[in-house]
Amino acid sequence: MAKSNAPSPFARIIWFSILAHFAEPIARPDCCKTAAAIASATQGLDLAQAGLTILIENTAGSEFSLGGSFEQVAEVIDRLRGIIPIAACIDTCHTHVAGYDIVSEEGIYQTLQDLDATIGLNNVKVIHCNDAKAARGSKLDRHQHIGREPSALSRSAFFSTISA
Ligand SMILES: [Zn+2]
Repeated sequence: MAKSNAPSPFARIIWFSILAHFAEPIARPDCCKTAAAIASATQGLDLAQAGLTILIENTAGSEFSLGGSFEQVAEVIDRLRGIIPIAACIDTCHTHVAGYDIVSEEGIYQTLQDLDATIGLNNVKVIHCNDAKAARGSKLDRHQHIGREPSALSRSAFFSTISA
């Protein structure tokens, strides 16, 4: 059987995390400036021709970072739609420490509803699945390997669902 020359889905993805670091405190994360910076950085690149999609990943929502809410990720994506191929990556650690409940069954249901109402589930191309060391809402970006302690998500409905 002939091997396909088509790149794997993962080869088609540029993983783009929008941890926006600012030299000085800002009053409000600026989705407009971030979208403009991404558009500028990718100007002249024919991403569609290359089969590449830029993924905006949600963040832990620490003080000076953008992307701690699904609304902010959605706004950046909306501003770039039609300019570059654009979609989302959802990081489970970031989702948890940003304050979304992915531990209880009701919580994961609500979080998925929030995700669908903002970014849209059809726009989520990758789930970056990892555990967290920190508590929900702590905004501490402390990843943990799945299966290691301390674990904030080992008993979560989310991990139970994906391992079932
Ligand atoms: Zn992280």
